[in-house]
Amino acid sequence: MVFVSVKNCNVLPLTLGVCSCGKRYINGNGNGNGNGIGIVTMEGQRRTSPKTRRKSSYGTSRRSILKKSFSQEQVNFTAPLSDDPLVAVIGGGISGLICALFLENRGVRSTVFDTGIHGLGGRLGTRLVDPQPLKFDHAAQFFTVQDSRFADIVNAWMEKGLVREWQGTVGELHNGGGFVPFLPSPPRYVATNGMRFLADSLLSQTRLVNVVRPCWISKLEPFNGMWHLSENARPRGEFDAIVIAHNGKCANRLLMTSGLPLIAKQMKRLELSSIWALLAAFEEPLPFPGSTEVPFEGAFRWSSLLDLLSTAAYGKQNKVPQENIPAATAAKVKAGILEGVEAALGLSKGSLPKPFYTRLQLWGAALPTNTPGVPCIFDPFGRAGICGDWLLGSNIEAAVLSGIALANHIADYFQSTGTDSGEFAVGLNHGFQPLEGHDIGQFPGLGSEEKMNEGQAYELAK
Ligand SMILES: Cc1cc2nc3c(=O)[nH]c(=O)nc-3n(C[C@H](O)[C@H](O)[C@H](O)COP(=O)(O)OP(=O)(O)OC[C@H]3O[C@@H](n4cnc5c(N)ncnc54)[C@H](O)[C@@H]3O)c2cc1C
Repeated sequence: MVFVSVKNCNVLPLTLGVCSCGKRYINGNGNGNGNGIGIVTMEGQRRTSPKTRRKSSYGTSRRSILKKSFSQEQVNFTAPLSDDPLVAVIGGGISGLICALFLENRGVRSTVFDTGIHGLGGRLGTRLVDPQPLKFDHAAQFFTVQDSRFADIVNAWMEKGLVREWQGTVGELHNGGGFVPFLPSPPRYVATNGMRFLADSLLSQTRLVNVVRPCWISKLEPFNGMWHLSENARPRGEFDAIVIAHNGKCANRLLMTSGLPLIAKQMKRLELSSIWALLAAFEEPLPFPGSTEVPFEGAFRWSSLLDLLSTAAYGKQNKVPQENIPAATAAKVKAGILEGVEAALGLSKGSLPKPFYTRLQLWGAALPTNTPGVPCIFDPFGRAGICGDWLLGSNIEAAVLSGIALANHIADYFQSTGTDSGEFAVGLNHGFQPLEGHDIGQFPGLGSEEKMNEGQAYELAK
């Protein structure tokens, strides 16, 4: 596999990756003090007006989401915690899964809810296309390891054969085919059978984690000292604490009337890029200028499956609703991405072989562009926390470290005598900083990692 970024492409800036494991891809390239918020009520019961209750939270404008989020009342759980508390983890991406695993390590039970129809993993996405089958990792392609806690996890994954080190070259492909390799950086890893299968296998041997999928949690309601979750009016259980392990529009809407204004406010500060992914399969390996072999990967020839990812700038220029992509936009983006590949490879106009399979996907909430730089956020009064990549960076390692931090924090909170809940508040008022790094994300080995390291250096108050 190679991973290269394409520069000076006059059609479409792309980054380009080619994966040798049966696939290939091209990647195109405050401060909140809770002012005025919060009438604290007792026992986790909010004074929600009947009017608010009747209104659907979906199809609501951003302005209305903001207004509701800022004016909602803060919930305050004062009832003693159960001896055997149960946590709801909403989101089965890597941060939520790791959070559930580490809660189990501390003896805490959890239920993970995830919308995934085919499997867990969120942005650890793998698409299988029958009948061949073609296999595409259509979001995260590889990851690196810097933190020793993540290194321990990855070593265990390697022992189980879930991941393997990938020795491929990373560099920049300049428009026309000139390739400049990057200097060797920390080792890179790929999931042996695809990213989604790595995610799916993580909870296979757990005893204290229950998974509910596909399930889209649409409402959180505090009542009688517990969080009541539901999916389109269907009750999904009562929980002592909740973990929000997803972000974007969905999380903003869920938090809009939840009784967690500080959590909601932090979530709404997050800014996310959009990225188009075009999955393309070709009959033959694509030609590389002046050679039938990719010059930077020894014996490896270009394989015939490509995950082509646009830049965030291109995603912004061509932004449409993820759930309803107009046919004209889809056609334009598909043509644009393929033209970008053609130009990057230095092929003459119209000479790129026609793919026999394509599928376009928009990652509408692809990568964070700003971060509070804290490992997790926790509101002890509402017994609710947030984990996710965006708290520390924009990559898998950041998501894993965030999941670990929140699990340990919640377990510490559960173990505390509960005399001063306030000391467990974390990240609720942290300002956000822009995330620097590579255009499609701050992936280690491809861009600046300073912000993430700063975040990791942050110590949780205990
Ligand atoms: C195109 C692209 C390329 C990338 N490439 C790389 C790379 O090469 N290397 C790297 O390290 N990182 C890469 N990343 C980033 C990496 O994928 C993410 O950092 C990481 O997967 C984030 O995990 P997460 O758990 O924070 O969030 P997510 O993976 O987004 O998980 C959130 C989950 O919550 C679920 N959910 C949402 N709402 C609800 C609800 N209401 N109820 C139930 N479930 C819900 C979602 O379906 C999803 O499964 C890439 C990302 C993208 C988009």
